[in-house]
Amino acid sequence: MTTTGQASGPALGICGALSQKGGEAGTGQGPGMDRFSFQVSATDGAARSGVISTPRGEIRTPAFMPVGTAATVKAMLPESVRATGADILLGNTYHLMLRPTAERIARLGGLHKFMNWDRPILTDSGGFQVMSLAALRKLTEEGVKFSSHIDGSKHMLSPERSMEIQKLLGSDIVMCFDECPALPATDEVVAKSMRLSMRWAQRSRDAFGDRPGHALFGIMQGGVTRELREESAAALTAIGFDGYAVGGLAVGEGQEAMFGVLDYATDMLPADKPRYLMGVGKPDDIVGAVERGIDMMDCVLPSRSGRTGQAWTRRGQVNMKNARHMDDPRPLDEACSCPTCRSYSRAYLHHVLRSQEIIASMLLTWHNLHYYQELMQGLRDAIAAGRLAAFVQGFHSQRAEGDIPPV
Ligand SMILES: [Zn+2]
Repeated sequence: MTTTGQASGPALGICGALSQKGGEAGTGQGPGMDRFSFQVSATDGAARSGVISTPRGEIRTPAFMPVGTAATVKAMLPESVRATGADILLGNTYHLMLRPTAERIARLGGLHKFMNWDRPILTDSGGFQVMSLAALRKLTEEGVKFSSHIDGSKHMLSPERSMEIQKLLGSDIVMCFDECPALPATDEVVAKSMRLSMRWAQRSRDAFGDRPGHALFGIMQGGVTRELREESAAALTAIGFDGYAVGGLAVGEGQEAMFGVLDYATDMLPADKPRYLMGVGKPDDIVGAVERGIDMMDCVLPSRSGRTGQAWTRRGQVNMKNARHMDDPRPLDEACSCPTCRSYSRAYLHHVLRSQEIIASMLLTWHNLHYYQELMQGLRDAIAAGRLAAFVQGFHSQRAEGDIPPV
């Protein structure tokens, strides 16, 4: 069962075509893949695994999207990011519109060519980052006027301008322009902001137009209040999108509150469209979100942590700056098949970190992205085999053991 990327297309149920076996489809491009579509191939509880097809290739779900903020996943070559198992990257509209500008990227052939990544790219709308990074913001019904955090130059982001920028970039999955209030906030503030975002969602849909092969995702808001989430989901599904993001989480509400929202929020969204949890997260956030029916996630954590000496492993987080690694000839994780763990010792990683060598960021980022993608593969395999509960139990028990004892 495959649904088309057209909002006006038939809404097909997923229940008739589920398979508990057979694993996943391949990731190659095939004939007839000129449209955006999503196919769920297996479910286990609320979790699902499947494939998003785009003209630029397939995205195996649940998917983790590394963040390529300024047209690069920091410290990584695009081919190395691909080698970790990533099917799709995220790019940031706010950063790219300011530097080098979307118009310049378009003149140079679009973001894929510019950054040498020919697979799918999802771009955010700029809405979240303009509220968190820009100076002198002025929010109106029309959009947000702001000054660049780089040079103070004045700009405007609106639903129409955000759609224009994301089109100039050549994004495969375009996000609606929305507003996200920081939590905690009163219901009144959250409701007012959510309703503005829903009006902006309609304007985003109108401005996006009909672009076969490209997808537009709506973003559900409503904070941690069920009634507001319901209202937002109803408004978005009435407009009709190719996928739906759960927005307004991972903004300081804590994991328990986030899972509390996901316990009901994913059910409010169409089962036959991808569900994307924005800005998540730590490995245990990802596992919990997948258990609750999320198909896509993104986070700067694995790459950012790599640059600060933090490694993510199946035994939890390891601080490679710690002096206990100084004489340790063992790899970061003897069971990991990434280039870092295959060829470098903890002692070496510790040394290049302390010496602030560039290779420290490269090696730790590679390992972290590899670990994240391996986790996603484990989740996909477990869902396909109907053994997600056992996988999750193993995930938590390994982390509870903690890092290997010092030499
Ligand atoms: Zn590794």
